[in-house]
Amino acid sequence: MVIFGDYHTHTLYSGGPFNVKHATGTILENAMSAKEKGLKQIAITEHGFSHKLYGVKRKNIDKMRQEIEEAKQKTGIDILLGVEANFISSEGDVDLTEEDIKKLDFIIVGFHNFARAKNIKEFFKFRLPNMLNLHRKKDVRRNTLAIMKAMDKYPIDLISHPGAHMPIDFETVGKHAVKTNTHLELNGKRICYKKEDVKKLLSLGVKFMANSDAHSAKRVGEVNKGINFAVKYDIPYESIANLEQFPKFKNYKGN
Ligand SMILES: [Zn+2]
Ligand SMILES: [Zn+2]
Repeated sequence: MVIFGDYHTHTLYSGGPFNVKHATGTILENAMSAKEKGLKQIAITEHGFSHKLYGVKRKNIDKMRQEIEEAKQKTGIDILLGVEANFISSEGDVDLTEEDIKKLDFIIVGFHNFARAKNIKEFFKFRLPNMLNLHRKKDVRRNTLAIMKAMDKYPIDLISHPGAHMPIDFETVGKHAVKTNTHLELNGKRICYKKEDVKKLLSLGVKFMANSDAHSAKRVGEVNKGINFAVKYDIPYESIANLEQFPKFKNYKGN
């Protein structure tokens, strides 16, 4: 089994309040660590712009692109400029503009408690019930619809840690993920699928991606949590898009 790439890694560009850094590595350090572990490709995916504590700044995107080019030259690792954007409304809005999307190679979206809602109405309707982890039927229905609408509106490549902080109906989301060519993550920190969810997702033909969600250079390429989960629940390696192959990305023309 060979891991081709780790498509969910954070760097110092995630920032952090009062000098408490959310992630500790630089782009070059993440790439060097990937090289040591035999990876061929990584993505730098900072938290999206509306994350109140750790969101990447729009003004840094061009600078990151330049650093990525330099790190590619130095290491020979192919590096994608991505983002881990946030779901910000029950209508499937995420915190990306068309201009942002043009500058990115790879788009992850996930739910994070510290991301601003689109507006005050959506704060009460969407963000607050998820923050409170209410898990009512109507929360599951609303979240599931929000993800489906987002997959229709944006070129999303991957949903990070599905189900974490945002209960969803995996089967319905899985069907729509297959239809829209969106991967579901086997995240290095949080995996929320139950055994029966995995069975349904596999029967639908869902493609997973096993990533580290590294917040330090050392952890780049550490996808064992996802792989162990795959072994335990009989997920074949062909269903994991970054094993033995390069995944296909909607925006990236490099492969
Ligand atoms: Zn996340
Ligand atoms: Zn992350």
